[in-house]
Amino acid sequence: MEARETVICIGCPLGCRVTVLQDKKGNVTGFKGADCKQGQKYVLDELKNPVRTLTATVRTGDEGYPLLPVRTSRPVLKVLMRPIMRETAKVTARPPVKAGDVIVKNVAKSRADIIATADWPGPGGEG
Ligand code: SF4
Repeated sequence: MEARETVICIGCPLGCRVTVLQDKKGNVTGFKGADCKQGQKYVLDELKNPVRTLTATVRTGDEGYPLLPVRTSRPVLKVLMRPIMRETAKVTARPPVKAGDVIVKNVAKSRADIIATADWPGPGGEG
């Protein structure tokens, strides 16, 4: 009997529902619903090692601009989200910051950096 896992592919706007067929040993025996090879690869990656880009904020210590928006510089394994959030919660950013500046290097040993997604102070000096 075959096991089935269904994942919604986000490889393109079509959002295909892709079902992975597996034998009793967990070997992939086929796909249903994937319109392309890219979708098959996405679904296999999603089942084995799901990754996401994490977005968050870090403290600034500035009453007028208390939180600086940040994200990981690349997608990271979902299992690392909690350690990354714990490490990010301990950080206080200092001005001036430009969007893209590294706030935390190699956060939680993920090989991704936490980078700013906004300038601080902003273009009009606000923040
Ligand atoms: S399976 Fe292919 S066509 Fe379907 S959503 Fe994924 S990338 Fe797009």
